[in-house]
Amino acid sequence: MHAAMTRAWLIGAGPGDVELMTLKATRALAQADVVLVDDLVNPEVLQFARADAQVVYVGKRGGHPSTPQADIVTQMLRHLRAGRSVARLKGGDPFVFGRGGEELQALQAAGIDADVINGITAGIAAPATLGIAVTHRDYAQGVVFVTGHGAGSGEPDWAALAATRMTLVIYMGMRRLGEIAGALLAAGMSADTPCAAIESATRPEQRHVLAPLREFAGAVARAGLGSPAIVVIGGVASLALAREAAERDGRVHHEPVASATPHARAHAHSIKTLSVGIGCRSHSEAADIEAAVRTALGSNGFEQIRSIATIDTKADEAGLLEFCSRHQLPLRLFSREQIASAPVASPSAGVRAHLGVDGVCEPCALLAAAASDSARSAQNARLVVPKTVHAGITVAIAAPNNATLGDLPPSSQDQDSR
Ligand code: SAH
Repeated sequence: MHAAMTRAWLIGAGPGDVELMTLKATRALAQADVVLVDDLVNPEVLQFARADAQVVYVGKRGGHPSTPQADIVTQMLRHLRAGRSVARLKGGDPFVFGRGGEELQALQAAGIDADVINGITAGIAAPATLGIAVTHRDYAQGVVFVTGHGAGSGEPDWAALAATRMTLVIYMGMRRLGEIAGALLAAGMSADTPCAAIESATRPEQRHVLAPLREFAGAVARAGLGSPAIVVIGGVASLALAREAAERDGRVHHEPVASATPHARAHAHSIKTLSVGIGCRSHSEAADIEAAVRTALGSNGFEQIRSIATIDTKADEAGLLEFCSRHQLPLRLFSREQIASAPVASPSAGVRAHLGVDGVCEPCALLAAAASDSARSAQNARLVVPKTVHAGITVAIAAPNNATLGDLPPSSQDQDSR
């Protein structure tokens, strides 16, 4: 075992928008043999992981129960002792809730020191999207990050918090909003105190509610806001109201933060230029296909996809059909002969033995992107993303191109060479 070379990182992936991840985080992620991913992490950040990295989801995705904390640490130790480097990816900052501190202690107890790489925590990023500066000096002397989750003896002392007159930024508070607001009012906090709830902050689906404390829980319930969301209580929340009023009056024009994300940018231009070729085993799950496509898309958005393409033997593949219908994308099917004659050679004996062709995802992406379905016309397309593999599903992405075959990126010829 090469203990000196083995490394462990606790990495903050930021609040959601991939561009809010740090350079240090992307560099560490690019080195890891194994990546253990939490629930709230945007799968798009996996574009920075090595194509051959082992990616393990330890969150509650897809209805599976989340992995108990002890098991996550056990898994990390197993990989580290086998000489594999491990990146533990957590949403936001690894040390702001989310148990990163406990994981570091457990690793240290086992004699392993992990590098901690900070991320932008949701409690700062979410308010910032609405123009809320959590420590604006006109309103507060400071900010308190507090969990709304703790019940019983873990319950925060809301009366004491109200007395500090600091901005309250509440994580995991959505389920108990009524009780929290009631406790703050009972402690004498003004019923007019401005409040904000921001759901899925910095993601394209971000939504928010602004209301005074007395109406807040009801307004959030009526809007149907749920987890994950950040709640801001205090005078600073009025900065969001002031900003919205200014926008309504046309005094300022600002691009909502969500439109700075690649997803929304693509939406704004609604350019459907990408064809996604998929190779999958029988009975692949829609959720895995989704994650694989998302990973391959990187900074491109789903709106940019024109069609999904695969081999015609997968015409009845339930997971694939479910994925396509979920995104309302046409599924284009190509025959073995069309695929075999497309201008991509992939030295994969296993795939050839199984399907009779070398590889499916890249030729299918090219065929779908080209003007017509003939193999010759596939030369009128180019791969914008060469084959990526995620959860055993291969994905390649192509776009139409007037270039000749020689202009195909080199990576399209030498994939699979690892
Ligand atoms: N380590 C994370 C927090 C983990 S606790 C961080 O620093 O951000 C999980 C809670 O974080 C959620 O219940 C929610 O309150 C908040 N959260 C995480 N991501 C969020 C997002 N994109 N939008 C709003 N709230 C988010």
